[in-house]
Amino acid sequence: MSGKGILFDFDGTLVPNLDLADMRRQIAAMATAAGVPDAVHADLYIVEIIEASHAWLVAQQSVETSLANQYAAASHQRIHDIEMEAAENTGLFDDARRVLMQLRNAGYKLGIVTRNCRAAVTTMFPDMNDYIDCLHARDDVEHLKPDPRHLQSNLDTLSVEPSASIMVGDGALDMRAGRELNMRCIGVLTGSNDAEALAAAGADEVLADYRGLVRLLT
Ligand SMILES: [Mg+2]
Repeated sequence: MSGKGILFDFDGTLVPNLDLADMRRQIAAMATAAGVPDAVHADLYIVEIIEASHAWLVAQQSVETSLANQYAAASHQRIHDIEMEAAENTGLFDDARRVLMQLRNAGYKLGIVTRNCRAAVTTMFPDMNDYIDCLHARDDVEHLKPDPRHLQSNLDTLSVEPSASIMVGDGALDMRAGRELNMRCIGVLTGSNDAEALAAAGADEVLADYRGLVRLLT
């Protein structure tokens, strides 16, 4: 392996953020409606709420497995519907294509690692393949970030070492996943966290937005 990579989170990093708090509320409400106690999913991320609630339902002798599966399928569909509706009305930040091209021309391999679905990403960034070498969306991986295997899949496809690569994101989970792989972690303030939260999650530095990355070129 050789070369250097930059892995980007997508929502809140290259495009305006999804309303994740509202999505989480809706998904938690569906779990509650299915009879799942709040304690089963109190501190989990969105997809993980469904996984934990589904497992809990399956473990109840009073609940038919088919009903548990229906609950999970309906919840996944809700996420997908919210993502696609948002994607129809969202596009890349103004200067993002120019900055991505500059970084790529400077020899960086570029990847996107996102918990969003592939269809939403390609809706918001239809010419992605002109700028990005590899996308790993939710449907492309078994283990989602903050599990570092999500990032590792992308690094492997780019053929770059984590120690020679940078993780860029607005999320604490982006910083935590990158930190576990000993990547350089750069937080951006265009999403859901402030500088303090990003630093606490392991950011080596925090930039106002992706445009600050051109500093890597000098
Ligand atoms: Mg994000």
